[in-house]
Amino acid sequence: MSDNVWDYKIFWDEALKEIQQEITEQEYIMWFKNMEYIGSTESSVTISVPSSFYKDQVTQRYQSRLEDLLFELSGQRISLNFKVVRKNNPGKKKIQEREKANLKVETPKKKKKHPMLNPEYTFERFVIGESNSFAANAAYAIAKNPGKGYNPCLIYGGVGLGKTHLIQAIGNSAYQEFDNLKIVYVTAETFANEFIQSIQNKTGHLFKNKFRSVDILLIDDIHFLQGKEGTQEELFHTFNALYDSNKQMVFTSDRPVSELKSLSDRLRSRFERGLNVDLQPPNYETRIAILRKKIEEKNVDIPDEVVELICKNIKNNVRDLEKALTKLIAYAELVNKNITLEIAQRQLKDFFAEPNQKNITIDIIQKVVADYFGLSYNDLRGKKRTKAIAFPRQVAMYIAREMTEYSTTEVGLEFGGRDHTTVMHACQKIEDRLKTDPTLEPTILHLMREIKEHRI
Ligand code: ADP
Ligand code: MG
Repeated sequence: MSDNVWDYKIFWDEALKEIQQEITEQEYIMWFKNMEYIGSTESSVTISVPSSFYKDQVTQRYQSRLEDLLFELSGQRISLNFKVVRKNNPGKKKIQEREKANLKVETPKKKKKHPMLNPEYTFERFVIGESNSFAANAAYAIAKNPGKGYNPCLIYGGVGLGKTHLIQAIGNSAYQEFDNLKIVYVTAETFANEFIQSIQNKTGHLFKNKFRSVDILLIDDIHFLQGKEGTQEELFHTFNALYDSNKQMVFTSDRPVSELKSLSDRLRSRFERGLNVDLQPPNYETRIAILRKKIEEKNVDIPDEVVELICKNIKNNVRDLEKALTKLIAYAELVNKNITLEIAQRQLKDFFAEPNQKNITIDIIQKVVADYFGLSYNDLRGKKRTKAIAFPRQVAMYIAREMTEYSTTEVGLEFGGRDHTTVMHACQKIEDRLKTDPTLEPTILHLMREIKEHRI
């Protein structure tokens, strides 16, 4: 063996075991499960992390402690380098699988209940998968370091995807962690109502005082503020006051800020400041993980085939997954029977009813669209970016989103592994063009009919 081959992997592995003892299991899973040992030099160890966000977080939180541990273990000063390695294709799966792992429920040291927050909305109960990991990690980082980094933060996504759960988890976690923080959670609707009432009762000063003296302001569903100019104005001033004093703000919305209508430009630009993260519908594996978690929490016995049945049929709303489960449990208790596949199929018929859209695959959509535009199926799915292909590809992506339940991430994967933002962009393009090009709608309707007839 030559002298300059260094391998400090054993020390790294030992250091990991040590640090695991020092932090909570949740933190360990959150930050260390996504690291991989890359290699060593005489005086350093390089570890891969999946994103710059991770790198910043782990550097700030753990680097010096880890370097001390490496020193204790090896007797030498070894510096630690974190390297961002984006694992796209083969490796990505591994990381995603790990991300999907549930955060284990830890026994909280103390438990206080915040009057405005639902104590069930915690990070421990939030299952992380590919569709929500960025938002969940950002939320977690905010809860641990309010006002320090991602300020403001806006979490957006469709109905039932966990916006309220995450924004409240920030509040719950910070409330347990820090003793003297004033945390306020309201829906935008409550904010608006309280504001209007304060005008009627001439208690504007109390209203201002309530919202401008907080350390963490959490406002849920800001899409509700569309068209409400007075409330927007008030929020604008609240925002500025808090922003100037580095107080944390988190908002949620059912769509990206750019799609919020009747919102003043200055408020829009405030929301766009800081970090905007989206929640996508969970993929099949994440849905299974979420449902299993709910089953575990409710402490009931449900066969795997029933879990699979539910997750195959309910695709883009976590709340509906839960509702299906609640309904089954209620039924089983009522008739005093075990839940079987047969019972589930019968009882959940209504939840699953979407008869005319079944069996439409992206594959069929791609074939029909390629054929219509005189392109090859492979070109449409592939990486080429010529204009002749780009537009039909956008049409196909748009139709895939309209006619199937696949998430933008899943659609992107079927089109040469493109990112979900590309799919969102394509859909937006088509929607814009539908407004100006009168020939496009009949074309798309024609294609949709063809696709329906194609299905097996
Ligand atoms: P939104 O506010 O986006 O409409 P919610 O936060 O109310 O959605 O979520 C709907 C339900 O689904 C809640 O009961 C929430 O606990 C649950 N839920 C959503 N995402 C997850 C997840 N990743 N893990 C566990 N439960 C989830
Ligand atoms: Mg909500």
